[in-house]
Amino acid sequence: MEVHIFFLPLLAPGHMLPMLDMARLFADRGVRATMVTTPANATLLLPTIDRSGPNLNLLTIPFSSAVAGLPDGVENLTAFPIPDVTPAFIKALDLLEPPFRRLLDDHHPDCIISDIAYTWSSDIAADFGIPRLVFQGMGFLSLIITGVLSNFKTHEAVAGDDEPFVVPMIPHEIKLTRSQLPTYVSNPDGNIEKMAEAQRRSYGMVMNSFYELEAEYVEFLKSAWRTRVWLVGPVSLRNQDLLDQAARGSEAPAPTVSDHCLNWLDSKEPGSVLYVCFGSMGRFTSTQLHEMASGLQASGHPFIWVVKSSGESTPTVDGEKGLVINGWAPQVLILSHPAVGGFMTHCGWNSSMEGVTAGVPMITWPLFAEQFFNEKLIVDVLRIGVSAGLKRSCMEAEERGVVGGEEIEMAVKRLMGGDEEAMERKKRAKEMAEKAKMAVSEGGSSYRDISALIEELVEFKKNKAEENK
Ligand code: UDP
Repeated sequence: MEVHIFFLPLLAPGHMLPMLDMARLFADRGVRATMVTTPANATLLLPTIDRSGPNLNLLTIPFSSAVAGLPDGVENLTAFPIPDVTPAFIKALDLLEPPFRRLLDDHHPDCIISDIAYTWSSDIAADFGIPRLVFQGMGFLSLIITGVLSNFKTHEAVAGDDEPFVVPMIPHEIKLTRSQLPTYVSNPDGNIEKMAEAQRRSYGMVMNSFYELEAEYVEFLKSAWRTRVWLVGPVSLRNQDLLDQAARGSEAPAPTVSDHCLNWLDSKEPGSVLYVCFGSMGRFTSTQLHEMASGLQASGHPFIWVVKSSGESTPTVDGEKGLVINGWAPQVLILSHPAVGGFMTHCGWNSSMEGVTAGVPMITWPLFAEQFFNEKLIVDVLRIGVSAGLKRSCMEAEERGVVGGEEIEMAVKRLMGGDEEAMERKKRAKEMAEKAKMAVSEGGSSYRDISALIEELVEFKKNKAEENK
């Protein structure tokens, strides 16, 4: 019996792309998968959907910019100067409910996999008598730190914002400061409780992680939260083909950028290049960009540096030393190239997973949200990273501290160098990448979780059909 799943991601690349990868993984296994998004966001998905088979489709629902008080065409978090989920954006997300409900009326899917932000999708699923699975977009360690701190409020007991405290209850000793916490932990609003409540009414969670990466935290979550959870990652490994890698998230097929990157990388020694990218929303002041340019160039290691323009002028670098990409980079394609030997990342969950999957050690430069928690996983738990030393979680580039060129140079040399510590780090990164590949291969842990979930959904559908006879 075939099952049909609706996938409804939050409107940001860091949520849409992993859900698209996930939808493809399910489509590969015989599921009918439908991505649901708004018209302006469809362009981000279409290059990949056009390359996929008949099991994967796209449906759009209108985005009510005017009613929500947003400018026309602003349908994605990347369109905001500060990537905050504003009340107007939340309102617009809530306005997706009626058209989404109409799609269910028309298409009768058997399951909804939706972002945690769409609290109303739990109600819709209940009304239609089908399971809703929540997609968090985070890893287990981050989810658990969020849960533990929200419960125990350990951060409230310390005297100052920069005073370290140890996260209680968890298997590793992880120190954080109040300054490093995302606002949804340090200063939660009613929306967080609403999401948690809708999640409790859901069928379970699907996570872009794999058991071998965070085993202790998977077990912790299963026992402490009593939530059903399926691990399906690393989902980016669905993009093995060069054309898939080039198409992923690029608004139009971008052979020019990809070809240029590949040619440049082909001319470099294996493992010699540092890839520098801060996700889809990592913007910096021109002072910080200048320091980065000088630090990267002084390191002596070749680099590809992705700069998201926000009005400031792109720094100039010596073309021999580094390749600067202004705008969208084919990240999975670049990370998969053998010339890449390190990744300077903002520790967004997808980038963290993609770094792990590529088997490269990382320089961690978290900016906001749960990125400081992911840094702890990379540096302290997996021991495959070097911290750039950021102290404060902050969405506004102007209010973040500046990391100086010399510090950047030192971090790059430490990561890319050949001393024993660096070699051990590289070895651990490679070992974890092997485990990542095994997890999604036939018979691997994530492969089995996908099988188990599909079987369960088929069973659910059969039982429902029996009941309705
Ligand atoms: N990405 C990309 N090219 C870019 C920037 C980002 O392909 O220039 C992809 C990246 O591979 C990842 C996603 O966009 O899959 C970003 O997600 P992440 O969680 O790392 O960060 P966010 O953008 O949500 O902060």
